[in-house]
Amino acid sequence: MGVKDEVKYVEIVYRGIFQKRLAKYIAEGIVYTAREMGRPALSFGRYGDSPERNGVPAKYYVGIGDNVNEEDLIGYSTRVEPDLVDAIIVLDDTLLKGVESWAWQGVQPINLKLKSNGTMLVTSTKRINELLKMIPKKDFNWTLGVVNTQPSFSGLWAFKDDLTMEKVWGGLAKLRPDIIDLDHLIKYVSKKQDADKRISTVKEAYSSVDYRTVMKGEGIDFVYNPPRLLTWQEMLEGTVIPAVPRGKRNELFKRGTTKFERPTVDFDICIKCKLCWIYCPDECFDETPDGYYDIAYDYCVGCGICADVCPVKDCIVMVDESMFTDYRRPYEMWKENKIKYKEWLKSVRQARKERVYVPGLGR
Ligand code: SF4
Ligand code: SF4
Repeated sequence: MGVKDEVKYVEIVYRGIFQKRLAKYIAEGIVYTAREMGRPALSFGRYGDSPERNGVPAKYYVGIGDNVNEEDLIGYSTRVEPDLVDAIIVLDDTLLKGVESWAWQGVQPINLKLKSNGTMLVTSTKRINELLKMIPKKDFNWTLGVVNTQPSFSGLWAFKDDLTMEKVWGGLAKLRPDIIDLDHLIKYVSKKQDADKRISTVKEAYSSVDYRTVMKGEGIDFVYNPPRLLTWQEMLEGTVIPAVPRGKRNELFKRGTTKFERPTVDFDICIKCKLCWIYCPDECFDETPDGYYDIAYDYCVGCGICADVCPVKDCIVMVDESMFTDYRRPYEMWKENKIKYKEWLKSVRQARKERVYVPGLGR
């Protein structure tokens, strides 16, 4: 066995800037607990140039060595990201639909790197079976766990110490004691401020985390074709960047995984003023032949600007992304069956969640 087989990796997927510190501190806690267990451990971010704009999916990693010395662990971990991981922690359930994190990799399945019999732990108020409507199937069994909590906001400028770290650590210790075990986790947490409160949160999460084995083939179909970059023999001479043809979008650059909420449109009250089309910074609206504006959700980053500029009350309302399992265009759905669309609109808007970091409030 080489170093490769003796390092366990944990991937932490978070929303850039909104959850940056949260992810970093969770990684730190796993590293220190592993060290309490007498193993070398380190953590590193996915990126060198930090394109962690609002909401962009981003990643932290933890590497823990078993029978590996510190130097070999550092040497082996000096890479952009590991090929495979033992556990994935997802800090916002809207990330389960896939991540386009960086570098034109395309929208990747959330569990792309999970090892056979690996574990994924999600912070969510949804149940396991609901989450599986968004998670791609694997050709092996794996474990899905849910720590019951709302998505937490702990970004660059503010740290919300709402005990999400302790909940995640407790859940991980239960599901993967080979990564961090409860006794050493408590030892680590007891050195922190307000230790009693933190220890009881760890214990509560440890005993209440919901989990089960997800069987091979369970989950959704997710087509992932990694973009193929041109080789040097195929490139044109000089610096040539072919433009995207007018009226088309770049298929390889779908920033839609950035959004944790999406605009819903009530076409029955739309006055066709065009403001959403004008103001959308990502040019997501397409004018329809009858003068309405349809949305390409694949490209919508959920900024909420369209909801803010729309002059008609309740015409555009932002709704939690986890309410949707597909990217169907709203206008097409409305044209297909207006009564059904209205009922659907009512149901998703009723279930709308308020998040602390919602940029566009809707009306
Ligand atoms: S929320 Fe609205 S304005 Fe923002 S990217 Fe999506 S469609 Fe465009
Ligand atoms: S801003 Fe609102 S009212 Fe105006 S076209 Fe867009 S959806 Fe319709």
